[in-house]
Amino acid sequence: MLDFTVPDSLRNLAGPVPAAADYPGLDAWRDLAADQQPTWHDHPDFAPAVAELNAVPPLVFAGEVDQLRSRLAEVANGRAFFLQGGDCAETFEGATADRISARVKTLLQMAVVLTYGASMPVVKMGRMAGQFSKPRSSNDETRDGVTLPTFRGEMVNGFDFTAESRVHDPRRMVRGYNTSASTLNLIRAFTTGGFADLRLVHAWNMGFTTNPAHARYESLAREIDRAVKFMDACGADFDALRTTEFYAGHEALLLDYERALTRIDSRTHLPYGTSGHFLWIGERTRELDGAHVDLLSRLRNPIGVKLGPKTTGDDALALIDKLDPEREPGRLTFITRMGAKNIREKLPPLVEAVERSGAKVVWVTDPMHGNTVSLPSGYKTRNFEDVVDEVRGFFEVHEAIGSFPGGIHVEMTGDDVAECLGGSDPVDESSFEDRYESLCDPRLNHMQSLEIAFLVAGYLSR
Ligand code: PEP
Ligand code: MN
Repeated sequence: MLDFTVPDSLRNLAGPVPAAADYPGLDAWRDLAADQQPTWHDHPDFAPAVAELNAVPPLVFAGEVDQLRSRLAEVANGRAFFLQGGDCAETFEGATADRISARVKTLLQMAVVLTYGASMPVVKMGRMAGQFSKPRSSNDETRDGVTLPTFRGEMVNGFDFTAESRVHDPRRMVRGYNTSASTLNLIRAFTTGGFADLRLVHAWNMGFTTNPAHARYESLAREIDRAVKFMDACGADFDALRTTEFYAGHEALLLDYERALTRIDSRTHLPYGTSGHFLWIGERTRELDGAHVDLLSRLRNPIGVKLGPKTTGDDALALIDKLDPEREPGRLTFITRMGAKNIREKLPPLVEAVERSGAKVVWVTDPMHGNTVSLPSGYKTRNFEDVVDEVRGFFEVHEAIGSFPGGIHVEMTGDDVAECLGGSDPVDESSFEDRYESLCDPRLNHMQSLEIAFLVAGYLSR
């Protein structure tokens, strides 16, 4: 079992902070099976890229990571709700001020809907500033008789279907770091510099006025406005409304990158992943004895694990033993992605086994990844109705068991894309040609995201 106490040899907290390379166990994953990794270790740029990442400043600070863990402990105890959202795969070109701000605004709007509906704090997190690598079901892709390595996210290779672009290039990790840094910088500016002020609740609403969710949001914003003005007149102190906490999380898929950004915290001398506040392990890389579980088990960050429909109660319990041996609320989040058809049958045994064990995990629904379909035209999509149905199933199951439905994890964007079918201003396939932009999985557009927030708020306020 893992022990977070610092070895005596390193425990001189007044002394120099040990280097991650000297910290026991942080390289144990190198001897274990690691799925879905790039084949770039013999590339001449590999060692220089890793050396550069070993020396750069952390993207997030250990104190923020600890704060997030304590916020998630509130979620584990049923006193707060957790909202995660962003692209399936971020892109370097897509890291513009407009797109980042549209995504942050949409997440802030969703959070307002949830906070108001549930009268509960919402822990807000972007699937942002690090979501640049993807697990794939096949190593190769064939088009017109030409076979090339699959696209694995821009931190590994390029999307263009050419031999040159599909090379696994370790320099891309450095670009990924730099793009994450500028994204995070803008997010920090937005959320602490006045943009997230609750008095701007109307200003976050974006175009697309014909959609019913737009009008519903406007009327909620008017109510909040009135309440804020009333409190203002009463002389309340509004400092708390001026800024908001906003965290960054991504799938910790690329172990070379995650290990290179592991730092030992100068306050506690414990290891932290500093590529993002929250790191999760995907459904395809969560083997108990695999490299991903090993490395993440040694970091102090709050950790997520995606669980698909084949997961058994014993699998979940074994993951808890490995990743949360101290049973620390806030440490471990299970993100279930069962599919609308499966959730009512597959989720209950998992939740029951975990709740019976006494462990306090955060339960989050990802209503996207179990509901992906490929159309004859070749587009990958999701039906909005299936997404909605999985969310409903999630709340029904937790209500029946008496566990707390702690959060939602969605692939979404602030833009008016056409990638998921349906919604109350329905997207149909004819719009895909012009407005399908995702390089990987289909995302909810701005309006579909708001609709989901209203649906969840409805459940939370019951
Ligand atoms: C993802 O979140 O984009 C993903 C690949 O999910 P999963 O690991 O659940 O398949
Ligand atoms: Mn995805």
